[in-house]
Amino acid sequence: MKVTAVQNDTKHILIVGGGYVGLYTALRLQRKLRKELRRGSVKITIIDPQSYMTYQPFLPEAAAGNISPRHVVVPLRTVLPKVEILTGRVTRIDHGKRKVMFKPVAGDLRQIDYDTVVVAAGSISRLLPVPGLAENGTGFKTIGEAISLRNHVISQLDIAESTDDPEIRRKALTFVVVGAGFAGVEALGEMEDMAEYSTRYYPGIDRTDMRWILVEATDRILPEVGPEMGRWTVESLRSRNIEVKLETRLESADKGHIVLSDGEEFEAGTLVWTAGVKANPVVRHGSLPVDDRGRVKATEFLTVHGVADAFTAGDVAAVPDLTNPGEFCAPNAQHAVRQAKVLADNLVRRMRGKPLKAYEHKYAGSVASLGLHKGVANVYGVKLRGVAAWFMHRTYHLSKVPTLNRKVRVMADWTLALFFRRDIVSLGELQHPREEFKLAARSDNAHAA
Ligand SMILES: Cc1cc2nc3c(=O)[nH]c(=O)nc-3n(C[C@H](O)[C@H](O)[C@H](O)COP(=O)(O)OP(=O)(O)OC[C@H]3O[C@@H](n4cnc5c(N)ncnc54)[C@H](O)[C@@H]3O)c2cc1C
Repeated sequence: MKVTAVQNDTKHILIVGGGYVGLYTALRLQRKLRKELRRGSVKITIIDPQSYMTYQPFLPEAAAGNISPRHVVVPLRTVLPKVEILTGRVTRIDHGKRKVMFKPVAGDLRQIDYDTVVVAAGSISRLLPVPGLAENGTGFKTIGEAISLRNHVISQLDIAESTDDPEIRRKALTFVVVGAGFAGVEALGEMEDMAEYSTRYYPGIDRTDMRWILVEATDRILPEVGPEMGRWTVESLRSRNIEVKLETRLESADKGHIVLSDGEEFEAGTLVWTAGVKANPVVRHGSLPVDDRGRVKATEFLTVHGVADAFTAGDVAAVPDLTNPGEFCAPNAQHAVRQAKVLADNLVRRMRGKPLKAYEHKYAGSVASLGLHKGVANVYGVKLRGVAAWFMHRTYHLSKVPTLNRKVRVMADWTLALFFRRDIVSLGELQHPREEFKLAARSDNAHAA
């Protein structure tokens, strides 16, 4: 095992996770600690399994093909030139000894020492023990999942168009999304919209041949936009022939055979699971305090409760919501971005012996896209639907996606889409790039034998 230590008096700030909180914290620290970084008295490191930050609210649009996958992510190395980027996973945070165990993408486990840690490892999909779910379902949290889902949905249309077996066709044309928060509703809205558009290139498939089903365990969808707009969203989806099943649970998905708690059973070729997230379990393997939901216990100053030299924010943390005493901030980007700013400022204040500031933000409401020119919004009490909400969604996220470079590229994608038809192609082969080569090798070996 290799040990990486920072020499002499350099203060080492280690950020675990380069997502919303990690990236925004590092950007601010890079600016505020410019002199210290230049002198070498401070070193900042980010560890993340990916070398980029994913702007998750754009994943549904990337899945629908409206934005190029590369424009949904921000390469950490290009925007953080003063920060060391290590690609791999933290497997344990031993804060007592001020060190983490780090598994690089290749090579042995390493030990990395630090002076101050920022825990920003986000959340992972919360799976339930549903038979067949792990084998047949897919999540919707990463760019890989979003793009493979796009390829998968289009390939289901290819399957349906090419088979003469009605059962294979019916299964291929049945799409199920479980969980009706942001991720589920936006993914379903965008994918259905894309599939509906695609049918013009499949003469054998009519929109009415497809079944799109949204399954939600509670009695409402999209809680982020409030009950009234949530009800409107249900009606809007139903008017598009999307089946919305409230107070219904997925009981089983063995070999793609879906069993729902309302008694219905059918075969589905696509199962997307977006029924909630839970704090990244890496924080359970270590010495930081976690609550009963596995979140790092945070103070309102975004320090970790009861320990020195540790900060946390975002989906991985239980941050007290000062605007709603007794409650914690919901896991969303709105809080993550704002918390990152306060966190970075407090970290610098602590280094300079100044008092820390508390994080306080009243949830402003939300915007969601439901497909091209379709959306729903409830922001500061202003309720919008349809094209107006969709436009607000795009404007808001364009203003929020980090760096001018990404803003311009996303804008260019949208502008091009105004003048050209949608690209409907499944590049599923990208998931198995060596298949063709292996086939060629097998055929050569067969000839040689
Ligand atoms: C499809 C989708 C749409 C969404 N839309 C909205 C929206 O419209 N509005 C909104 O407010 N919120 C939205 N959200 C939620 C929002 O994206 C999250 O709340 C936000 O990303 C949380 O930021 P974070 O920094 O805590 O976590 P993340 O941004 O997820 O970052 C966590 C980082 O930690 C890294 N990591 C994981 N494990 C390790 C490890 N072991 N070691 C090191 N690094 C690790 C991950 O690779 C990741 O880069 C959406 C989420 C999804 C999935």
